[in-house]
Amino acid sequence: MLLLIPGPVQTRPETRAAMAQDIAPWDNDFRPVYAEIREMVRDIAGGVPGEHATMPLQGCGHFILEAAIRTFVPAGGTVLVPHNGAYADRAIRLATEAGRQVVSMPCPDTEGVSPAAIGAALAANPSISHVVMVHNETGSGIINDPGAVGPVVRAAGRRMILDSVSAFGALPFALAAHPEVDALVFTSGKCLEALPGSGYAVARTDRLLDCAGNAGSWSFDLSDIYQQALRAGWGSIRFTPAVQSLAAFRVALDFFMAEGGQPARLARYRENARILHEGVRSLGLTPYLDWAHQGPVIVTVHQPADPAFALQPFVDALKRRGVLISNFYNTRAPSFRVGCIGAIGPEDMRQAVAAIGGALDELGVRDRAARMPAAA
Ligand SMILES: *Cc1c(COP(=O)(O)O)cnc(C)c1O
Repeated sequence: MLLLIPGPVQTRPETRAAMAQDIAPWDNDFRPVYAEIREMVRDIAGGVPGEHATMPLQGCGHFILEAAIRTFVPAGGTVLVPHNGAYADRAIRLATEAGRQVVSMPCPDTEGVSPAAIGAALAANPSISHVVMVHNETGSGIINDPGAVGPVVRAAGRRMILDSVSAFGALPFALAAHPEVDALVFTSGKCLEALPGSGYAVARTDRLLDCAGNAGSWSFDLSDIYQQALRAGWGSIRFTPAVQSLAAFRVALDFFMAEGGQPARLARYRENARILHEGVRSLGLTPYLDWAHQGPVIVTVHQPADPAFALQPFVDALKRRGVLISNFYNTRAPSFRVGCIGAIGPEDMRQAVAAIGGALDELGVRDRAARMPAAA
Protein backbone atom coordinates (compact mmCIF):
# COMPACT_ATOMS: atom_id res chain seq x y z
CA MET A 1 0.00 0.00 0.00
CA LEU A 2 1.27 3.44 -0.90
CA LEU A 3 0.62 5.75 2.06
CA LEU A 4 0.03 9.27 0.75
CA ILE A 5 -0.89 11.26 3.82
CA PRO A 6 0.99 14.16 5.41
CA GLY A 7 2.14 12.03 8.31
CA PRO A 8 2.68 9.48 9.53
CA VAL A 9 4.37 8.84 6.22
CA GLN A 10 5.58 5.94 4.16
CA THR A 11 8.91 4.79 5.67
CA ARG A 12 11.81 2.72 4.41
CA PRO A 13 11.97 -0.96 5.37
CA GLU A 14 15.35 -0.36 7.07
CA THR A 15 13.79 2.33 9.26
CA ARG A 16 10.87 0.12 10.27
CA ALA A 17 13.21 -2.81 10.92
CA ALA A 18 15.09 -0.83 13.58
CA MET A 19 11.99 -1.12 15.77
CA ALA A 20 12.21 -4.90 16.01
CA GLN A 21 14.30 -5.02 19.19
CA ASP A 22 13.93 -4.69 22.93
CA ILE A 23 15.71 -1.66 24.37
CA ALA A 24 16.19 -0.24 27.84
CA PRO A 25 16.07 3.54 27.35
CA TRP A 26 18.48 4.29 30.23
CA ASP A 27 21.01 1.68 29.09
CA ASN A 28 24.52 2.83 28.24
CA ASP A 29 24.12 1.43 24.72
CA PHE A 30 21.07 3.61 24.08
CA ARG A 31 22.22 6.85 25.71
CA PRO A 32 24.60 7.80 22.88
CA VAL A 33 21.84 7.14 20.33
CA TYR A 34 19.56 9.58 22.15
CA ALA A 35 22.33 12.17 22.47
CA GLU A 36 23.20 11.85 18.77
CA ILE A 37 19.58 12.37 17.77
CA ARG A 38 19.57 15.63 19.75
CA GLU A 39 22.73 16.89 18.07
CA MET A 40 21.69 15.84 14.58
CA VAL A 41 18.32 17.55 14.70
CA ARG A 42 19.83 20.70 16.21
CA ASP A 43 22.19 20.79 13.24
CA ILE A 44 19.38 20.16 10.74
CA ALA A 45 17.55 23.09 12.36
CA GLY A 46 20.57 25.29 11.69
CA GLY A 47 21.05 25.72 15.42
CA VAL A 48 24.29 26.80 17.07
CA PRO A 49 25.85 24.43 19.65
CA GLY A 50 25.54 26.02 23.07
CA GLU A 51 23.02 28.56 21.86
CA HIS A 52 20.40 26.02 20.80
CA ALA A 53 19.58 22.56 22.11
CA THR A 54 17.07 19.83 21.36
CA MET A 55 14.34 18.98 23.84
CA PRO A 56 12.67 15.70 22.89
CA LEU A 57 9.22 14.83 24.20
CA GLN A 58 7.26 11.59 24.00
CA GLY A 59 4.22 11.67 21.78
CA CYS A 60 2.73 13.61 18.91
CA GLY A 61 3.02 17.06 17.43
CA HIS A 62 0.27 18.57 19.56
CA PHE A 63 2.17 17.57 22.70
CA ILE A 64 5.42 19.25 21.70
CA LEU A 65 3.59 22.37 20.48
CA GLU A 66 1.70 22.59 23.76
CA ALA A 67 4.98 22.13 25.64
CA ALA A 68 6.61 24.98 23.69
CA ILE A 69 3.67 27.31 24.31
CA ARG A 70 3.55 26.49 28.02
CA THR A 71 7.30 26.78 28.44
CA PHE A 72 7.99 30.02 26.57
CA VAL A 73 4.80 32.04 26.95
CA PRO A 74 4.33 33.20 30.54
CA ALA A 75 1.11 32.08 32.24
CA GLY A 76 -1.61 34.57 31.33
CA GLY A 77 0.55 35.96 28.50
CA THR A 78 -0.72 36.76 25.02
CA VAL A 79 0.10 35.13 21.68
CA LEU A 80 -0.73 36.16 18.13
CA VAL A 81 -1.74 33.31 15.82
CA PRO A 82 -1.99 34.04 12.09
CA HIS A 83 -5.00 31.95 11.19
CA ASN A 84 -5.03 30.47 7.73
CA GLY A 85 -5.81 26.85 8.28
CA ALA A 86 -6.70 23.92 10.48
CA TYR A 87 -3.40 23.71 12.34
CA ALA A 88 -3.66 27.32 13.44
CA ASP A 89 -6.99 26.28 15.02
CA ARG A 90 -5.09 23.63 16.95
CA ALA A 91 -2.49 26.14 18.18
CA ILE A 92 -5.29 28.48 19.30
CA ARG A 93 -6.98 25.76 21.29
CA LEU A 94 -3.74 24.51 22.87
CA ALA A 95 -2.79 28.04 23.94
CA THR A 96 -6.27 28.88 25.22
CA GLU A 97 -6.57 25.71 27.29
CA ALA A 98 -3.11 26.38 28.71
CA GLY A 99 -4.52 29.67 30.02
CA ARG A 100 -2.75 31.94 27.54
CA GLN A 101 -4.61 34.77 25.80
CA VAL A 102 -4.90 34.38 22.04
CA VAL A 103 -5.21 37.07 19.41
CA SER A 104 -6.31 35.25 16.29
CA MET A 105 -5.48 36.97 13.02
CA PRO A 106 -7.71 35.64 10.22
CA CYS A 107 -5.98 35.39 6.82
CA PRO A 108 -7.01 33.77 3.51
CA ASP A 109 -6.18 30.05 3.37
CA THR A 110 -4.91 30.25 -0.19
CA GLU A 111 -1.68 32.17 0.35
CA GLY A 112 1.01 32.63 3.02
CA VAL A 113 0.51 35.17 5.81
CA SER A 114 1.62 38.72 5.03
CA PRO A 115 4.57 39.93 7.16
CA ALA A 116 3.16 43.49 7.03
CA ALA A 117 -0.11 42.27 8.54
CA ILE A 118 1.83 40.61 11.37
CA GLY A 119 3.74 43.85 11.96
CA ALA A 120 0.48 45.81 12.14
CA ALA A 121 -1.09 43.32 14.57
CA LEU A 122 1.95 43.47 16.85
CA ALA A 123 2.01 47.26 16.77
CA ALA A 124 -1.68 47.35 17.65
CA ASN A 125 -1.27 45.14 20.73
CA PRO A 126 1.82 45.61 22.92
CA SER A 127 0.72 42.82 25.26
CA ILE A 128 1.50 40.16 22.64
CA SER A 129 4.77 38.48 23.58
CA HIS A 130 4.87 35.73 20.96
CA VAL A 131 3.76 34.92 17.45
CA VAL A 132 2.85 31.24 17.15
CA MET A 133 3.01 30.45 13.46
CA VAL A 134 2.38 27.28 11.47
CA HIS A 135 5.22 26.92 8.98
CA ASN A 136 3.53 24.61 6.51
CA GLU A 137 -0.25 24.70 6.94
CA THR A 138 -0.96 21.04 6.42
CA GLY A 139 -4.70 21.63 6.02
CA SER A 140 -4.37 23.49 2.74
CA GLY A 141 -0.73 23.09 1.70
CA ILE A 142 0.30 26.75 1.94
CA ILE A 143 3.55 27.94 3.44
CA ASN A 144 3.89 30.76 5.97
CA ASP A 145 7.45 31.99 5.51
CA PRO A 146 9.38 32.46 8.76
CA GLY A 147 12.21 33.98 6.72
CA ALA A 148 9.91 36.92 5.92
CA VAL A 149 7.86 37.04 9.13
CA GLY A 150 10.80 36.55 11.54
CA PRO A 151 12.47 39.93 10.89
CA VAL A 152 9.14 41.72 11.50
CA VAL A 153 8.71 39.93 14.83
CA ARG A 154 12.32 40.72 15.75
CA ALA A 155 11.95 44.38 14.83
CA ALA A 156 8.89 44.60 17.06
CA GLY A 157 10.88 43.13 19.96
CA ARG A 158 8.63 40.06 20.19
CA ARG A 159 9.35 36.35 20.04
CA MET A 160 8.23 33.45 17.90
CA ILE A 161 7.31 29.78 18.25
CA LEU A 162 7.29 27.97 14.94
CA ASP A 163 5.10 24.91 14.36
CA SER A 164 7.30 23.29 11.76
CA VAL A 165 5.80 19.83 12.23
CA SER A 166 5.06 19.21 8.56
CA ALA A 167 7.91 21.37 7.20
CA PHE A 168 10.99 20.43 9.17
CA GLY A 169 13.61 18.68 7.08
CA ALA A 170 12.02 19.77 3.81
CA LEU A 171 11.63 23.55 3.92
CA PRO A 172 14.77 25.65 4.40
CA PHE A 173 15.14 27.38 7.75
CA ALA A 174 18.14 28.12 9.99
CA LEU A 175 17.72 29.01 13.65
CA ALA A 176 21.13 30.72 13.68
CA ALA A 177 19.64 33.51 11.55
CA HIS A 178 16.50 33.82 13.70
CA PRO A 179 17.26 34.89 17.26
CA GLU A 180 13.57 35.84 17.67
CA VAL A 181 12.61 32.15 17.56
CA ASP A 182 12.39 30.60 21.04
CA ALA A 183 11.69 27.17 19.60
CA LEU A 184 10.77 25.38 16.46
CA VAL A 185 8.87 22.15 16.90
CA PHE A 186 8.44 19.04 14.79
CA THR A 187 7.97 15.27 15.05
CA SER A 188 9.68 12.08 13.96
CA GLY A 189 6.93 10.96 11.60
CA LYS A 190 6.71 13.57 8.86
CA CYS A 191 9.46 14.91 6.56
CA LEU A 192 12.18 13.07 8.48
CA GLU A 193 10.47 9.85 7.36
CA ALA A 194 10.55 7.90 10.62
CA LEU A 195 7.76 6.37 12.67
CA PRO A 196 5.55 8.50 14.91
CA GLY A 197 6.31 8.54 18.65
CA SER A 198 8.48 11.55 19.48
CA GLY A 199 8.33 15.32 19.17
CA TYR A 200 11.21 17.78 19.30
CA ALA A 201 11.69 21.41 20.17
CA VAL A 202 14.97 22.91 19.09
CA ALA A 203 15.13 25.84 21.47
CA ARG A 204 17.30 28.68 22.67
CA THR A 205 19.20 27.63 25.78
CA ASP A 206 19.09 31.16 27.29
CA ARG A 207 15.31 31.15 27.01
CA LEU A 208 15.06 27.65 28.47
CA LEU A 209 16.82 29.01 31.55
CA ASP A 210 14.69 32.19 31.67
CA CYS A 211 11.45 30.26 31.37
CA ALA A 212 11.86 27.77 34.21
CA GLY A 213 8.57 27.53 36.09
CA ASN A 214 6.30 28.83 33.30
CA ALA A 215 4.86 25.56 32.13
CA GLY A 216 2.46 24.70 34.94
CA SER A 217 2.95 21.07 33.91
CA TRP A 218 5.84 18.79 34.75
CA SER A 219 5.21 16.56 31.72
CA PHE A 220 5.22 19.47 29.27
CA ASP A 221 8.02 21.56 30.77
CA LEU A 222 10.84 21.94 28.26
CA SER A 223 12.90 23.88 30.81
CA ASP A 224 12.77 20.84 33.08
CA ILE A 225 13.94 18.62 30.22
CA TYR A 226 16.85 21.02 29.75
CA GLN A 227 17.69 20.95 33.46
CA GLN A 228 17.66 17.16 33.32
CA ALA A 229 20.13 17.19 30.40
CA LEU A 230 22.43 19.61 32.22
CA ARG A 231 22.29 17.48 35.35
CA ALA A 232 22.42 13.95 33.96
CA GLY A 233 23.67 14.27 30.36
CA TRP A 234 22.19 14.56 26.87
CA GLY A 235 21.54 10.84 26.70
CA SER A 236 19.41 10.86 29.84
CA ILE A 237 15.65 10.59 29.91
CA ARG A 238 13.04 11.79 32.40
CA PHE A 239 10.19 9.40 31.59
CA THR A 240 9.96 6.34 29.35
CA PRO A 241 10.12 7.39 25.70
CA ALA A 242 8.84 5.44 22.66
CA VAL A 243 12.26 3.89 22.54
CA GLN A 244 11.84 1.63 19.49
CA SER A 245 10.53 4.59 17.54
CA LEU A 246 13.61 6.56 18.61
CA ALA A 247 15.88 3.77 17.35
CA ALA A 248 14.09 3.95 14.01
CA PHE A 249 14.35 7.75 13.99
CA ARG A 250 18.14 7.47 14.37
CA VAL A 251 18.25 5.23 11.26
CA ALA A 252 15.97 7.61 9.35
CA LEU A 253 18.34 10.49 10.15
CA ASP A 254 21.19 8.57 8.50
CA PHE A 255 19.07 8.21 5.36
CA PHE A 256 18.25 11.92 5.54
CA MET A 257 21.94 12.83 5.61
CA ALA A 258 22.85 10.30 2.91
CA GLU A 259 20.19 11.72 0.59
CA GLY A 260 21.76 15.17 0.85
CA GLY A 261 19.78 16.66 3.73
CA GLN A 262 17.08 19.30 3.44
CA PRO A 263 17.81 20.57 -0.10
CA ALA A 264 17.63 17.04 -1.55
CA ARG A 265 14.49 16.22 0.36
CA LEU A 266 12.82 19.44 -0.75
CA ALA A 267 13.74 18.72 -4.37
CA ARG A 268 12.24 15.22 -4.20
CA TYR A 269 9.04 16.41 -2.50
CA ARG A 270 8.68 19.34 -4.87
CA GLU A 271 8.91 17.00 -7.85
CA ASN A 272 6.36 14.70 -6.19
CA ALA A 273 4.03 17.68 -5.74
CA ARG A 274 4.56 18.86 -9.30
CA ILE A 275 3.68 15.47 -10.80
CA LEU A 276 0.57 15.31 -8.67
CA HIS A 277 -0.52 18.91 -9.31
CA GLU A 278 -0.07 18.47 -13.05
CA GLY A 279 -1.57 14.97 -12.99
CA VAL A 280 -4.83 15.92 -11.29
CA ARG A 281 -5.24 18.86 -13.67
CA SER A 282 -4.80 16.47 -16.61
CA LEU A 283 -7.68 14.44 -15.11
CA GLY A 284 -9.89 17.57 -15.23
CA LEU A 285 -9.67 18.25 -11.48
CA THR A 286 -8.82 21.61 -9.88
CA PRO A 287 -6.04 21.84 -7.30
CA TYR A 288 -6.97 23.94 -4.26
CA LEU A 289 -3.89 26.13 -4.63
CA ASP A 290 -2.31 27.73 -7.67
CA TRP A 291 1.13 26.32 -8.36
CA ALA A 292 2.62 29.66 -7.23
CA HIS A 293 1.28 29.10 -3.68
CA GLN A 294 1.60 25.32 -3.66
CA GLY A 295 3.96 23.93 -1.02
CA PRO A 296 5.79 20.60 -1.48
CA VAL A 297 4.19 18.70 1.40
CA ILE A 298 0.58 18.12 0.42
CA VAL A 299 -1.51 18.74 -2.67
CA THR A 300 -5.12 19.50 -1.86
CA VAL A 301 -7.64 19.10 -4.67
CA HIS A 302 -11.19 20.43 -4.97
CA GLN A 303 -13.76 17.66 -4.85
CA PRO A 304 -15.46 17.38 -8.25
CA ALA A 305 -18.99 18.80 -8.60
CA ASP A 306 -20.45 15.57 -10.05
CA PRO A 307 -23.02 14.13 -7.58
CA ALA A 308 -21.43 10.71 -8.20
CA PHE A 309 -18.45 11.86 -6.12
CA ALA A 310 -18.36 11.19 -2.39
CA LEU A 311 -15.15 11.22 -0.37
CA GLN A 312 -15.27 7.87 1.45
CA PRO A 313 -16.21 5.78 -1.64
CA PHE A 314 -13.46 7.61 -3.55
CA VAL A 315 -10.92 6.82 -0.81
CA ASP A 316 -12.08 3.18 -0.80
CA ALA A 317 -11.75 2.95 -4.60
CA LEU A 318 -8.24 4.40 -4.36
CA LYS A 319 -7.35 1.94 -1.64
CA ARG A 320 -8.41 -0.96 -3.88
CA ARG A 321 -5.82 0.45 -6.30
CA GLY A 322 -3.10 0.39 -3.63
CA VAL A 323 -3.15 4.06 -2.64
CA LEU A 324 -4.26 5.32 0.78
CA ILE A 325 -5.19 9.00 1.24
CA SER A 326 -6.99 10.86 4.03
CA ASN A 327 -10.75 10.33 4.28
CA PHE A 328 -11.29 13.85 5.60
CA TYR A 329 -10.39 17.35 4.57
CA ASN A 330 -9.90 20.58 6.45
CA THR A 331 -10.07 23.32 3.87
CA ARG A 332 -12.98 25.73 3.70
CA ALA A 333 -14.23 24.27 0.40
CA PRO A 334 -14.72 20.47 0.02
CA SER A 335 -11.45 18.85 -1.04
CA PHE A 336 -9.35 15.73 -0.85
CA ARG A 337 -5.73 15.74 0.16
CA VAL A 338 -2.76 13.79 -1.11
CA GLY A 339 0.56 13.77 0.73
CA CYS A 340 3.80 14.22 -1.20
CA ILE A 341 6.16 13.41 1.68
CA GLY A 342 7.67 10.15 2.88
CA ALA A 343 9.94 7.57 1.32
CA ILE A 344 8.26 7.97 -2.06
CA GLY A 345 9.29 9.26 -5.47
CA PRO A 346 8.08 10.22 -8.95
CA GLU A 347 7.01 6.71 -9.96
CA ASP A 348 4.79 6.50 -6.88
CA MET A 349 3.18 9.83 -7.74
CA ARG A 350 2.47 8.71 -11.30
CA GLN A 351 0.92 5.55 -9.88
CA ALA A 352 -1.22 7.76 -7.60
CA VAL A 353 -2.43 9.91 -10.50
CA ALA A 354 -3.37 6.80 -12.47
CA ALA A 355 -5.20 5.43 -9.42
CA ILE A 356 -7.11 8.71 -8.97
CA GLY A 357 -8.17 8.59 -12.62
CA GLY A 358 -9.24 4.95 -12.24
CA ALA A 359 -11.19 5.64 -9.05
CA LEU A 360 -13.06 8.58 -10.62
CA ASP A 361 -13.96 6.45 -13.65
CA GLU A 362 -15.14 3.62 -11.42
CA LEU A 363 -17.42 5.99 -9.51
CA GLY A 364 -18.70 7.50 -12.78
CA VAL A 365 -17.48 11.02 -11.93
CA ARG A 366 -17.78 12.96 -15.19
CA ASP A 367 -18.22 16.60 -14.11
CA ARG A 368 -14.85 17.27 -12.52
CA ALA A 369 -15.11 21.05 -12.07
CA ALA A 370 -14.67 22.20 -8.47
CA ARG A 371 -17.63 21.59 -6.19
CA MET A 372 -18.52 24.82 -4.46
CA PRO A 373 -19.06 24.96 -0.70
CA ALA A 374 -22.68 24.70 0.41
CA ALA A 375 -24.10 28.18 1.01
CA ALA A 376 -23.96 29.08 4.69
C1 LIG B 1 0.85 16.92 11.87
C2 LIG B 1 0.89 18.29 12.38
C3 LIG B 1 0.84 18.59 13.76
C4 LIG B 1 0.73 17.55 14.84
O1 LIG B 1 -0.15 16.54 14.64
P1 LIG B 1 -0.16 15.29 15.64
O2 LIG B 1 -1.29 14.49 15.13
O3 LIG B 1 -0.36 15.80 17.01
O4 LIG B 1 1.19 14.63 15.51
C5 LIG B 1 0.96 19.90 14.16
N1 LIG B 1 1.11 20.89 13.25
C6 LIG B 1 1.15 20.64 11.94
C7 LIG B 1 1.33 21.78 11.00
C8 LIG B 1 1.04 19.35 11.46
O5 LIG B 1 1.10 19.10 10.14
